[in-house]
Amino acid sequence: MRSGWLGTGPKVKRFESDFAQYKGVPADRVAAVNSCTAALHISFIAAGVGPGDEVITTPLTFAATLNAIIHSGATPVLADVDPVTMNISPDRIRERITDRTRAILPVHFAGRPCDMDAIMEIAREHSLMVIEDCAHAVETEYHGQKAGTFGDFGCFSFYVTKNVTTGEGGMILARNPEHIARARVLALHGLSKDAWHRFGDEGYKHYYVTECGYKYNMMDLQAAIGIHQLERIENNWQRRQQLWRRYQESFASLPLTRPAEPSADTRHAFHLYTLLVDESRCGLNRDDFLVALHERNIGTGVHYLSLPEHPFYRKRFGWRPEDWPNAMRIGRQTLSLPFSSAMDDNDADDVIAAVHSILSSPDYP
Ligand SMILES: *Cc1c(COP(=O)(O)O)cnc(C)c1O
Repeated sequence: MRSGWLGTGPKVKRFESDFAQYKGVPADRVAAVNSCTAALHISFIAAGVGPGDEVITTPLTFAATLNAIIHSGATPVLADVDPVTMNISPDRIRERITDRTRAILPVHFAGRPCDMDAIMEIAREHSLMVIEDCAHAVETEYHGQKAGTFGDFGCFSFYVTKNVTTGEGGMILARNPEHIARARVLALHGLSKDAWHRFGDEGYKHYYVTECGYKYNMMDLQAAIGIHQLERIENNWQRRQQLWRRYQESFASLPLTRPAEPSADTRHAFHLYTLLVDESRCGLNRDDFLVALHERNIGTGVHYLSLPEHPFYRKRFGWRPEDWPNAMRIGRQTLSLPFSSAMDDNDADDVIAAVHSILSSPDYP
């Protein structure tokens, strides 16, 4: 704040280079933006994906994943998830490929990596772009390689609930530095030079509008938060891993479906801890479970109702949830427990006690 420069400038540059270093890529492969939604939108444009093209993605994701495809002008196509990993199924992707398919948009759900060997093989066979939605997956690795570095683009979120936060913020990682150069122009109105360079020490320089861009730049104020968040990433990850283990052990005896353990030779980012509530086993449904947790003063979330449950997408694309049965079932049974590195053991014990007390109440069979 005292520097007098709050907009896009040296802190953003520093955050970009720290992030690139964390990901093990050169600094010209990343561009900071103001959200993951912006990162996804710009990636599609830079990838040349637009009207007439089809993009295959998962029905079990946040609306922003899908909206970014729609904003690019392309047509979204959903491929169902694997019931255990909750990630997009490579076999279902294959079934949805047409001669208009141009890209695959996998989401590393909850921080668990998608089956990138199979997805990249499909992409190679059919010459498809791959844009990874890494909103849950800053720390994720698959077979020794970091999430966001498999595809042509990796898009990250620093929204308040994410593992690394800047309040609002996002990052694009691209394999091709020309894609990043284009993304930078798109993220600032399509200007040939950003404001820091315009008003910098070398004196005034004209800028030129080279295309109709967007207003998607990150501010130094946000990047300053991100720099310090990134320093803590490993400690925070360790803490969430401890909480994950504590939850897994504590719920082993209950008739709930716990998240699948991380696969060998992968790193799970431990972004969400989700349980499935099957009414036939638990005696109450997911929505009743959410109410019961709320009554016990425990906050919850739902990640996610499958996308075809939402009226807009049903109307626009004629989708029915039943056509993606795994995502539909998960969406109707899942709930996310409080899960944050800021929680101490007592907080976790409160959550665990509440879950146990719901399932041992007199109404429970
Ligand atoms: C949070 C989230 C986004 C959007 O991130 P923003 O930075 O809020 O735009 C996109 N995809 C997934 C899977 C998310 O969880």
